[in-house]
Order: sequence, then C-alpha cells, then structure tokens
Amino acid sequence: MSGSDKAGRRERILRAAVQQGLLEPETAVLAGFVDLDGVRETVTSLRGAFPADLRVLHAFAAKANCLVPVLGELRRHGMGCEVASAGEFAQALEAGFAPADIVFDSPAKTRAELARALSLGVTVNVDSFQELARLDDILATRSSASRIGVRVNPQVGGGSISAMSTATATSKFGIPLEDEGNRQRLLRAYRDRPWLTWVHTHVGSQGCPLPLIARGIAKAVEFAEEVNAHLGRRQVTGIDIGGGLPVNFDSDETTPGFDTYVDHLREHAPALFSGAYEIVTEFGRSVLAKNGFMAAYVEYTKTVGGRPVAITHAGAQVATRTVFAPDAWPLRIEAHDPHGRAKQGPPVRQDVAGPCCFAGDLLARDRALPLLDVGDLVVVPDTGAYYFSTPFHYNSLPEPAVYGARVDADGRVTFQVIRPAQDAHPVPALAGH
Ligand SMILES: *Cc1c(COP(=O)(O)O)cnc(C)c1O
Repeated sequence: MSGSDKAGRRERILRAAVQQGLLEPETAVLAGFVDLDGVRETVTSLRGAFPADLRVLHAFAAKANCLVPVLGELRRHGMGCEVASAGEFAQALEAGFAPADIVFDSPAKTRAELARALSLGVTVNVDSFQELARLDDILATRSSASRIGVRVNPQVGGGSISAMSTATATSKFGIPLEDEGNRQRLLRAYRDRPWLTWVHTHVGSQGCPLPLIARGIAKAVEFAEEVNAHLGRRQVTGIDIGGGLPVNFDSDETTPGFDTYVDHLREHAPALFSGAYEIVTEFGRSVLAKNGFMAAYVEYTKTVGGRPVAITHAGAQVATRTVFAPDAWPLRIEAHDPHGRAKQGPPVRQDVAGPCCFAGDLLARDRALPLLDVGDLVVVPDTGAYYFSTPFHYNSLPEPAVYGARVDADGRVTFQVIRPAQDAHPVPALAGH
C-alpha cells in the first residue's frame, strides 16, 4: 500500500472511531488503534521475503506489542512468538501459540522458568555459560523436546541508538564470540552437549543499519559452520537470526522492506540459504509499528514565551521513549479536527505536550502543524510497537483502550476491543462537601 493510502486509511479509522464514540472528549480522551488489515499485509510481505523452500519460523517479538489479541492475530497469520520474560511467556500461551512455536530469550531466566520451558518443549536460547550449567542440571534428570541454542554476541559494533545495540564489545547479551578463549569454550560446550543444536544472535533494534545486522548474522552462521566442521557432524541444524529491521518514522513509506533485509543476508551470509539450516526470525517493531497509531484530544492550548503549546492526553505514559529520548525516537504528529478530519491551515510552530506533571512531557517540540485548538485530535502514527501497548504508569494515568480496526471494500470500518481502557480513578466526591 502506498503512503497516501496509509494516511487515508488512518483518517478513515479515526473518523469512524469518533462517530462510534471510541474517542470522546470527556470519557475517552486517548486510544490506540491497530490496523489489522495492515498487519496481515505486513506478515505476508515478511513470509514472502524468504525463499519458500526454506523452513522458517517467524517468531514475533512479544515485547513490541504484548496484547494477547494482537498475538492471537499474528498466530492466525502463521507466526510464532519470541518471549523474554515469564509474563510474555504466559501471554504467548494465552494467545494460543503451540509451545514449539514459542522462543524463550532472556538474559535473566530463573531455574523454574527454564524447567517450565523445557518441560513444555519451548525453544530456549541460552544467554550465558552459567545458564548452560543450569540446563545441564535440569537435563540430567529429564529429557526435553525443546530446541536449545546459544545466543552469541558477534561483537560487530553498535548502531545509532546505543540502548538498542546488542552486538557491541561489551553488550550484556549473549556469549561474546571474540573474547579470549570463548570460541574454544563454546566449541567444547557444543561437543559435550549433543542437545545444543541451534545458534542464536540478535544484533540490535532500531538504529542498526542493515549491513551491520547482516554482518552480525554472518558471524553467527560462520560459527555454526565452525561447530559442525569441528565436530565432524551436522549438530547445529538451526539458526535464529533475531529481529531488528529498522522502521522509517519519517513518512508512511515502509522502508527498508523485508526483501531488502533478505538481500543483505544473501550477500553477507549465503550459507544461511543453503538449505542446511532451519531459520527462526524475531521481528517486532517492523511487524507492528506502522500498523498502529494513537489519537488524543487537545484539552487546552496556551502561548508560552511566544510559542503555542497544545496540552493533549498523550505523553510519556504512552510515548515513553520519545519523551525521554526525543532525538533518538522522533514521532510524526498529525492535526485533526474534532470529527477526525485532517486539519488544514498554515503550519505554525508549536509544542505538542502530554498530560504528565513534568516539564519534559512533550511529544514534539517546535513542530510546524496547523494550529491546534481545544477539542482537536492529534494523531501519532507508527506507534503500533513499543508505545501504547506498553504504557508507563506515571501520575497513575490509566492504560488507554486499544482497538483493532478493519476497513471493508466499501470503506466501512469495524472495530474490536483489543484492550479495554483501564478504569480511570474517578474524581473523588469528598465526604461532607
Ligand atoms: C527486542 C528483541 C527483538 C525484536 O527487536 P525489533 O527491533 O522489535 O525487531 C528480537 N529478539 C530479541 C532477542 C530482542 O531482544
């Protein structure tokens, strides 16, 4: 779908949401929306990017949008689920994923979590030598159907956002391949544990350029080949290449696409496509970000130091990264009138603020938009991953409702509740007043 179609569909969904009372100035001042048709198209493009003759499990990274109905939708489109905590693990099971389609990655798995994963047959990626010793203890007394891999850190370096870069020399994730002695130690670990049959890596998320991701994956593939050559048997049968395809937050164009990602992999890691390995992917942001938006009412406007400021109901509680690290996580903002129609008018530089009680709670600073008025709606595109699905409970602000939307061929919009709004604490009636 082209960029202008995406904007048109967003406006159509917004107008229907106002008409159907899902957004209402007193009672429903903020909501998140997931474009379920867009999700289906994105998953189709992900599946189509990999050769059909390879065995690939696309495991959605649950942290990007852990809402159970969203996970269920992705399961029905044929995806698996990557989880990184007991909470996400429970959400994946609730969404109906078969244990064999769940991948458990976390640097802090407890003994009980590991035992449960192994007894269910969930795939486990081991993050450290210490975790490997725990698996030895568990597997000494029982067998498991789980596929088990080691997460290696290829140490190829970071991208533009250091907090998102997991393949730096000193990252907390995985076993660093280039540290003194580790390669030999890992080769022995695979030799002594025939159940170690996978290699995992995740180079990083937003901000990592594709050549960097591809080089990191290439190192993981080379390591798998090295294990098999060293042992003289094809013990490693699968490679989990992680996620991290960056998302374009500047426009409605979906660039880079999954096909471009696969082109880079073919160039840097051709052995991945030899047919010798099963593949797992773990994309999160690139599956959901551009298929979600949020909308919030403007409650007040003022002019401060000569600059117009719109006080809206969307701030740090739903756009935490953007508010605390605005340079790394800029978001587009669109101005709409109270009916949800795109607002026309000359661009005026203004701040778009949230409701939280600290001065930095701004979605955008000095942004040129048609001048916002009380009762207008601001739309924040590209927020389907890591935004309204994982709210921050600052100021006891309630979690907003999230709706799934589908647009039929006649342009009619139907909604389903993905998450009801958390009960806002009502303004208390004081005794004796
Ligand atoms: C966060 C994470 C992902 C998903 O990253 P995206 O940038 O959302 O694609 C995949 N795998 C692991 C291990 C992660 O930590």
